[in-house]
Amino acid sequence: MATMSSVNPATGEVLARFDELSDAELERKLARADETFRAWRRRPFAERAAHMTRAAEVLERKKEHWGRIMTSEMGKTLKSAIAEAEKCASACRFYAENAERFLADEELKSSATRSFVRYLPLGPVLAVMPWNFPFWQVFRFAAPALMAGNVGLLKHASNVPQCALAIEEIFREAGFPEGCFQTLLVGSSRVGRILEDDRVKAATLTGSEAAGASVASICGRVIKKTVLELGGSDPFVVMPSANLESAVKVAVAARTINNGQSCIAAKRFIVHDAVYDRFEQAFVERMQALRVGDPMAADTDVGPLVSPSERDKLVAQVEAAVKAGARVLCGGKPLPGKGAYYPPTVLAGVTPASPSYREEIFGPVAMIFRVKDVDAAIAVANDIPFGLGSSVWTNDPEERQRFMNDVEAGATFVNAMVASDPRLPFGGVKRSGYGRELARDGIREFVNVKTVSVY
Ligand code: NDP
Repeated sequence: MATMSSVNPATGEVLARFDELSDAELERKLARADETFRAWRRRPFAERAAHMTRAAEVLERKKEHWGRIMTSEMGKTLKSAIAEAEKCASACRFYAENAERFLADEELKSSATRSFVRYLPLGPVLAVMPWNFPFWQVFRFAAPALMAGNVGLLKHASNVPQCALAIEEIFREAGFPEGCFQTLLVGSSRVGRILEDDRVKAATLTGSEAAGASVASICGRVIKKTVLELGGSDPFVVMPSANLESAVKVAVAARTINNGQSCIAAKRFIVHDAVYDRFEQAFVERMQALRVGDPMAADTDVGPLVSPSERDKLVAQVEAAVKAGARVLCGGKPLPGKGAYYPPTVLAGVTPASPSYREEIFGPVAMIFRVKDVDAAIAVANDIPFGLGSSVWTNDPEERQRFMNDVEAGATFVNAMVASDPRLPFGGVKRSGYGRELARDGIREFVNVKTVSVY
């Protein structure tokens, strides 16, 4: 039987091994999901909300425990892992408090005596999730899905089995009926079979384009709804009217969040000529000053990458950029010794001919570009296949409107870094995927929008 390993990326130590589910175990879990859904869909919102509030409490009460599991398994700093557990709790509370309102019947005028829309759950939904925010990615799917009356099946990334099991434990401890949320310890080669199963009604995937395309094409064949949240190479535009000091400070945080492994990290810094030199100097200084090291230590800013293979991918991307003419302003080489460490790095002069120009760089490597005006800034911002988030720094009202309207992205944050928030919809355009998570839009993705007309 295949096994999954939990490996600490800071040390290379194997922490645990887990057997993948057998076919018979998988079948039992699918049957349980189907059976649980039939009862769960009839439970009132107040009852679902009571469980979801308890899930928030379990997350908060043991946030350090959950944080340590995340950090030891994928290398994010412990402080950010604890903050992640807290953020998951906030999403649980948000949907516990708002789901009923978001899914209330909506009266519409027609020739009938009465017509309205009713939002009904679909059934078991498969979530294929990545390792980078190993709790948050899952909770931002599960909190709305379960509140809507669906049940969740989690196929987590194979390198975070302890996180996957911990999340199942949280829902169990919160008192959700068994079968409302189940972790399936299976590799990606078994996802197709699960998607084709009649009992599974829809799927959501966060991860790479290849994985998204595979899941969406299978679901297309069997006519099932999908939501895809894929990669990004978000622009961070700085114009002359911006507060440069804040822009630099936030730029560093926006590039290095989660050790640089976030889909909505700012990856391309597009700076107006008038402030470019000052920005570059301050940005490089601050990137160099970050402390790289043990993710469990309180004063660490940047921990290891998730694995040696992800580090090697980053090394190859930086080398390719340099070969194509980029200059390394700081960092640029993996750190020697144990652990998948890569230092904060700034590259200038990455040209459109360089492969790295249009690729997502999943690590603490920033690319910086000089532009002459707002049109050039927008042109560079849009010159990628992705369209997830965007951050623009300007105090000029006309420029703000230009960025809001013309940057091709699922979000534009003005004078702030892009961040997900349970109250705001989250998702992308272009090859960053489709559909939305969070807010009202997120809970309405996996429902039957049923039209009722009474004559
Ligand atoms: P993957 O897309 O490979 O993994 C994400 C999830 O999809 C995992 O659960 C994985 O399972 C599963 N998966 C992978 N391939 C398939 C498939 N063909 N069919 C069904 N499920 C599949 O991401 P990686 O972790 O390998 O990272 C690769 C790149 O993806 C990163 O470098 C980054 O660019 C991007 N990424 C983007 C994220 C985001 O938040 N947008 C998050 C993580 C990665 P398994 O682990 O078993 O292979």
